[in-house]
Amino acid sequence: MRPSRGAPPQRPAPGDPRKTAKVVSGAYAKDYRLTQFTDLGLAKPLLKALADEGYTAPTPIQAQAIPGVMTGKDLLGIAQTGTGKTAAFALPILHRLAENRKPAPRRSARVLVLAPTRELATQIGESFKSYGKHMGVSVAVIFGGVKYGGQMRAMAPGVDILVATPGRLLDHLAEKSMTLEGVEILVLDEADQMLDMGFIVPIRKIIKFVPRVRQNLFFSATMPSEIEKLSAEILNPNPLKVSVTPQATTVERINQRVLFVEQQRKRALLAELFDDAGFKRVIVFTRTKRGADRVAKGLEQVGVEAVSIHGDKSQGQRERALAAFKAGDVRALVATDIAARGIDIDAVSHVVQYELPNVPEAYVHRIGRTARAGKDGSAVAFCADDERNLLKDIEKVTRQRIPSFDRRNDKQLGAATAALPDAGGKPDRVDTRGGGRTQPHRGGHAPKRNRNHADAKPGRPEGRPDARPQRAEADAKPAFKGPRRNRRGGGGGGARSQGASAGVWSNR
Ligand code: AMP
Repeated sequence: MRPSRGAPPQRPAPGDPRKTAKVVSGAYAKDYRLTQFTDLGLAKPLLKALADEGYTAPTPIQAQAIPGVMTGKDLLGIAQTGTGKTAAFALPILHRLAENRKPAPRRSARVLVLAPTRELATQIGESFKSYGKHMGVSVAVIFGGVKYGGQMRAMAPGVDILVATPGRLLDHLAEKSMTLEGVEILVLDEADQMLDMGFIVPIRKIIKFVPRVRQNLFFSATMPSEIEKLSAEILNPNPLKVSVTPQATTVERINQRVLFVEQQRKRALLAELFDDAGFKRVIVFTRTKRGADRVAKGLEQVGVEAVSIHGDKSQGQRERALAAFKAGDVRALVATDIAARGIDIDAVSHVVQYELPNVPEAYVHRIGRTARAGKDGSAVAFCADDERNLLKDIEKVTRQRIPSFDRRNDKQLGAATAALPDAGGKPDRVDTRGGGRTQPHRGGHAPKRNRNHADAKPGRPEGRPDARPQRAEADAKPAFKGPRRNRRGGGGGGARSQGASAGVWSNR
């Protein structure tokens, strides 16, 4: 809960990111919660914007990172979303821009932020915009899956801050529709996600376009060796190192349960959950795009307002779905893993896993959509018989026994299933061969391995963090199909870009 505008400085409430993050390195003895934003020497327009937001005290990562970054130091930040890391880089960067106002170079930016997904890029852009609103900074956000023309127009005069996903940015660089010659500060956010999504090679290529003399801020939730290597390549020697971790892991703060149920009765079970008015704002996860559509339709059929988001939806459709969910116009957002990555929505009451993920780590990411910013939350996972191995893996990785309830052979559920209208299509089955990490089969007959399944198609999971390299859905088209054919942005971009919004915004 945000304090009202102009509220006097407060102690952090339970569940506030200021309280839930514990500093695990650096000067541990210092109580960062006693620091106020006004103590950090930030430019006045920034303090005004923070007061508008109702933020008085920095989170631990902010208190540790801001002073050093303000003076131009490089930063290696080990932190997850929810720790306040976006403001930890956005505020000192804006401060530096405020101290040294100059026009942004044409077709370029003074600050480049690389983020793995379009949702995260959009959120970072919005943060810069809101913290910089009294400074008159220009911000552009570019990502794949939409037309090129609007992005080129937004970048033409140059912007202060460019937030981009790697694939699309590389396309623009290859076409020389943008340059990175004016970049003074480079931020790499969620580096470990970038690795999962196969972005390490594109990132290395992008770095070659950025001037050597620059300030670098590098963030990752975890530090696998490949990421450590990349950080050493990007950062100047002796960067400031800040590492924070949530005090109670997300897993501990979330009330979790597993419901054993027959695959074909999951729809009725989901409808039953929504009979509880406490299921106010619910994210339902499915493994496939087609599954997401089918579950959303099934909910609508029983009178629950629902929308789905996944990689086959246009950017406009995704934005509208998210806006409706955020506004509380719909109770359920049905999403695939990749579509839900990086989405920061407050007050998600429940996360339902309609199917268990093929990769156990995704279970943790999914339930982390609730219990944001230190709040508690509830997570329910459906487990059909052929998903038992997946559950075992999840319990092993999360080192916990999830309380379970057996709803198999439940007469009431059987009757409710029989009474449901047809939602169309067949449910996705788990392919347990290969440790359950292969794609679910889409047909009713015995699953066969099919090389053609390697192409992105509706009905298959959108990402396999265990298989790399691969491109994120947002940037899945390596070929540049826009500007050459139609400089006004009318052509190219494939079916998904048809009717999509510009894929760029700038507050100029
Ligand atoms: P992030 O880790 O950047 O995704 O931030 C997590 C959430 O904490 C976001 O909803 C922010 O708006 C919020 N937040 C960031 N900084 C503060 C602060 N100093 N005080 C209270 N909330 C904050």
